[in-house]
Amino acid sequence: MIRVEKGAAPPILQENAEGWHAELLALRQQKAPKKQTGKVQQRYRHKQVKAALVKAFHGRCAYCESQITAVTYGAIEHFFPKSRYPDRTFAWENLLLACDVCNSRKGDTFPLQADGAPLLVNPSAEDPADRLQFDWNPITGLASIYGRDRRGEAVVTLFDLNGTAGRTDLMARRSGYVKKLAALQKLAASNLPAQAEAQALLREAGDRTRSENEYQAFASCFADS
Ligand SMILES: [Zn+2]
Repeated sequence: MIRVEKGAAPPILQENAEGWHAELLALRQQKAPKKQTGKVQQRYRHKQVKAALVKAFHGRCAYCESQITAVTYGAIEHFFPKSRYPDRTFAWENLLLACDVCNSRKGDTFPLQADGAPLLVNPSAEDPADRLQFDWNPITGLASIYGRDRRGEAVVTLFDLNGTAGRTDLMARRSGYVKKLAALQKLAASNLPAQAEAQALLREAGDRTRSENEYQAFASCFADS
């Protein structure tokens, strides 16, 4: 998980969010049929919203940083679940891009801290590096993510970021990627003829704007070191 600056809301939300919210609120107050309420609620799925999120997140999941491809279409995720916080259904600051696995693992789960603030971390509102530690172990060949505090731990557990509850594919994919970065870093620091090429590849891997570059939280650790 890495900090993402989303920028301004897409025009469709700037122009309509307030009106859509008023409409949704009125329908809920009237206890309108679910079908009718649902139709208004679904407006957040407008293609402009999805496109703006894909652009802002460079096609990567806000939580696990896996690339969302055309095959796994990805979801518009409400950080504050829309079922419990309907007033945030169309709020740009509440919308993230998530892979189908993270989206379904989260569902309506939204634990709060004692002061009422969210326990989970919204990477477009705060820096996840304050909560999470990214650890590459060359002996085990594992790229693990650890919580620095309770909030970080809650994120790791809910999204199963280390694959201990079944997401072994995520752990294997991320570890394989980081292993390559580690090898590149060694080469980049060497006096071998491929040194310059390795340095260039490492810089390229650290480019957050390239959607094929997954797991940027780890990539930036290598680029910074
Ligand atoms: Zn994900």
